[in-house]
Amino acid sequence: MATFDWQTHFGPLLTELAQDGHDRWADRLRSQLTQRFDDNPHGDLERWLGALNGLPTLSNVDASLTDSAITLRTDDPLSEAQNQQLESALRGLMPWRKGPFDFFGTYIDTEWRSDWKWDRVQPYLSDLKGRRILDVGCGSGYHCWRMLGEGARRVIGIDPGLLFMFQFLSVKRYLGEVPVDLLPVRMEDLPENLGAFDTTFSMGVLYHRRSPLDHLLELKGTLRRGGELVLETLVVEGPEGHSLMPEDRYGQMRNVWFLPSCDTLLRWLDRTGYRNARVVDVTDTTTDEQRSTDWMRFNSLRDFLDPNDPSKTIEGYPGPRRATIIAEKP
Ligand code: SAH
Repeated sequence: MATFDWQTHFGPLLTELAQDGHDRWADRLRSQLTQRFDDNPHGDLERWLGALNGLPTLSNVDASLTDSAITLRTDDPLSEAQNQQLESALRGLMPWRKGPFDFFGTYIDTEWRSDWKWDRVQPYLSDLKGRRILDVGCGSGYHCWRMLGEGARRVIGIDPGLLFMFQFLSVKRYLGEVPVDLLPVRMEDLPENLGAFDTTFSMGVLYHRRSPLDHLLELKGTLRRGGELVLETLVVEGPEGHSLMPEDRYGQMRNVWFLPSCDTLLRWLDRTGYRNARVVDVTDTTTDEQRSTDWMRFNSLRDFLDPNDPSKTIEGYPGPRRATIIAEKP
């Protein structure tokens, strides 16, 4: 049975972490990755690995990381056979949710226009040049690539979803040595108080956490003093103190716990010890931003809204509205 050679994939990162004084983290990762890939492998692991290994080998590859689609190109045109091989490997990694990507002319129209989120967030960030960045709940790593495109020195994305990791690797395999990695672990799996990052992103994760204040504290622990938190999450209208806890599902999503008002969220950040927290953007999520596509054929936002009143979810809650908040660790 084919196994995922995580030691080769993550070897350089583990060495780098140990060199930077994070031996404890490197050791912990080794046992988490052993557990994830060797002791208790996911049932689809072999299939995804087959798809990744099925991608054609190409030379003279160049990437563009500043356009709406993460774009890979080569000066040597692909043969018909290579194009077919590429398409079938990429299809083997469906559903594609976060993107878009352009692999040598094969355009992956993902469920989400993740580039729209980036365009809402990016203008408010401290310059990313030279920064060490953590992206918690990074999905396919789309935004990690955009961070590298802005000149980040080091980007580590974490997300427990293994298919996302294979989608990330399908880009990375064409780029060789780049300072971007995606680790298949959860926020709670990181050692506390790493104090290692200049900027930490948490986008689309807070409402999945049963204990949102603990999530904010964990995020603060990842930052150095003066480091920046970029938090993006679902919010509702209402006064300070108000938050919505759905009875069960929200927009068909399981695992949704707290949707605070913006003022409540600012209070949470204040109480968890951040300073200068400010709301920089509030935007309703539309069915243009999140929709089914040829690369994600399951139901999407349109099916999760009330057909008679698309301002509400199918359960009758206010429709999805997202806020971006920036704050610093003192
Ligand atoms: N940040 C991306 C993706 C958001 S989707 C974006 O904004 O577009 C939310 C992601 O959070 C999912 O990929 C899910 O796997 C991940 N996630 C959920 N719980 C998590 C946890 N406890 N730690 C880290 N990631 C988590």
